[in-house]
Amino acid sequence: MAQTILIVEDERDLLSTIEYNLQREGFDTRAATTGEMALRLAERDPRPELVLLDIMLPDLSGTEVCRRLRQSDALRRVPVIMVTARGEEIDRVVGFEVGADDYVVKPFSVRELVLRVKAILRRVKGGDGDGAGETTFGKLRLDPAAHRVFVEDVEVVLTALEFRLLSTFLTRRGRVQSREVLLADVWGIEADVTTRTVDTHVKRLREKLGVCGGYVETLRGVGYRFRANPDDASQADADGDTP
Ligand code: CA
Repeated sequence: MAQTILIVEDERDLLSTIEYNLQREGFDTRAATTGEMALRLAERDPRPELVLLDIMLPDLSGTEVCRRLRQSDALRRVPVIMVTARGEEIDRVVGFEVGADDYVVKPFSVRELVLRVKAILRRVKGGDGDGAGETTFGKLRLDPAAHRVFVEDVEVVLTALEFRLLSTFLTRRGRVQSREVLLADVWGIEADVTTRTVDTHVKRLREKLGVCGGYVETLRGVGYRFRANPDDASQADADGDTP
């Protein structure tokens, strides 16, 4: 069955162009020109597999729409790509406040956009497919099939990207991961995401993991490392100096 993409864009020409290109790639599309309409259409079955969300809309802002999607039980895991015209908003959009999975900056090439959409859908699918059952690591429990994470048996809600980041860390425990490697393997696209974006997401992931946040160690000047054992004392501070 074709995957459904919800496109939220008030510029009709751009909307048609995106629709046309996604349909040509075999996706079903659903179009909204306002934030309220987007929230309504997101609830409709079949639920969209991904939301493409313009930030400047006539009623609600795209960031507000994203926040509300994240508050909905049914939709909080749907990947969101934010379309922004302003570079300075990017950290906010992908970071703590809004929780989008990715972003593109206007003007963007439709080809690049389609690649991003496919990359994200592949990652989400990959995460599901990896499902070798639950992984327990200290106080952390991860259920890949259901895309759920628990800290001391309390569910932690992660975005699709954060989930992917955590899964990547977990499968590579005890191994140093540079920001560049994480960018390539978690974001999976050669685009204008910077290593700072990695830092923003790791910071947010740690905050969400609470008492388990310390499992992700910073190796200053090198990157990150997920502990090999949950009970290991952190070596990060001791050997964290830039080599
Ligand atoms: Ca707009």
